[in-house]
Amino acid sequence: MKVISVRRNARLALVAFLVCAGFPVLFAQTSTQRSPVAPSREQVQAVVDQAYEKFKSDTGGKNADYIPALAQVDSKLFGVVAISTDGQIVSDGDIDHAFSIQSISKVFSLALAMNELGPDAVFAKIGSEPTGRPFNSVDAVVDMPSHTGNAFVNAGAIATVSLISAPSADAKWQMILDFYSKAAGENLTLLEDVYKSEAATNTGNRALAALLLKYERIYADPLESVDVYTKQCSVGVTAKQLAVMGATLANDGINPITHERVIKSENVPEILSTMMMAGLYDGSGGWAWHVGLPAKSGVGGGIIAVFPGKGAIAVFAPPLDEAGNSVKAQKTINYVAEQLGINLFSPRSVGLK
Ligand code: GLN
Repeated sequence: MKVISVRRNARLALVAFLVCAGFPVLFAQTSTQRSPVAPSREQVQAVVDQAYEKFKSDTGGKNADYIPALAQVDSKLFGVVAISTDGQIVSDGDIDHAFSIQSISKVFSLALAMNELGPDAVFAKIGSEPTGRPFNSVDAVVDMPSHTGNAFVNAGAIATVSLISAPSADAKWQMILDFYSKAAGENLTLLEDVYKSEAATNTGNRALAALLLKYERIYADPLESVDVYTKQCSVGVTAKQLAVMGATLANDGINPITHERVIKSENVPEILSTMMMAGLYDGSGGWAWHVGLPAKSGVGGGIIAVFPGKGAIAVFAPPLDEAGNSVKAQKTINYVAEQLGINLFSPRSVGLK
C-alpha cells in the first residue's frame, strides 16, 4: 500500500523545541541515559491521539478471510499503545481487546530459538534474506532451497518452530506460550476458535512443511511443527500486551514492566534487523523507505514497531492491504514516527544537532 507522507516541518519544529527545552521527563529514557531527541510523554500522547482521530474512520483494506475466524472480527476495532523502555504507557482506543497475534508471534519464536541455539546456528538454518514474495509463498522455498529465506515467512517460521527443542510437541507449545507470556508480562492464552479455524484450513502451510522436508530444511516432524506453529499464531494478545512485547525488544530483551530478562541481549540486533528486512513481507521495502523502524505485522491486524533503546508502538486494526498488513496500523505508526522524528535512518533520530 501507499503509506501516507506527512510533512516534515512540524516534526522538525517539535524536535528542535524539545532539544532546546531539554525536557526534564523524557518519554523513553531515564535521566542518566536521555537522548536529545526523545520526546516527552505528553508529546507522545498528543501525537497518538491525533493519529487515532485521523485514521479511526479510514475504511481502507479488508479483514483476512482465508482463516474464516478472522473474517468475523469487528473491522472497526482500533487500538494504539506506545510504551517506553522506562515503562511509561500512552494509548488510545480498543487497547484491551484480545486478537490473534498471528505472524507477530514469529519474532518471539525466533527469539526463543536464538536463546537456545545462538544466532549463528539459527542464521545458518533459517537465514535472514527478504524474499520479496508473499508470506505464504511456495515459490520462495523452491527458489531458495538452501535456506528458508527468513524466520518471518511461513516456511521459515515453521522451520524455526522445528528448531526449538522439547521432549514433545505439547511441551514445545507450552514453552512457546510461556516465553510469549514473559515478553508480554501477563499470562497469554490460546484463542481456540482461531486455532480450530486455521487448523481446519491450513493446507498451504502443510504443503510448505512437506517442501521443507524435501530440501531437508525442517528439523522435527513437519505436521507436528505446523500444528505448534498454528497454535502460536492463535495466541490472543491485546494491543497493550503486544506493545509490552515490542518494548521488551526495544529494552535490550528486558521486559520494561516486570524487569525480567526475556531475550538475550546479544540476539536483539539480529532480531530487529530481520524485522527491518522482512517484517511486513513484500511490503517491507516500502515500510523501511517510509517509516524506517523495525516492525512486524500479523494478519490478525496487529503491527509492532520498535524504536531501539526508546520504546515501541503496537496498533491493532483488522482490515489489511494486499500484502496482509493492517492499513490503519501502518498509517498510524507512519504518522507517529514522522511527527516524533524517530526514523532510525535519520541522523536527527540519533541526536545530530
Ligand atoms: N497463521 C498465519 C498463516 O500461517 C500467519 C500469517 C500472517 O500473519 N501473515 O498464514
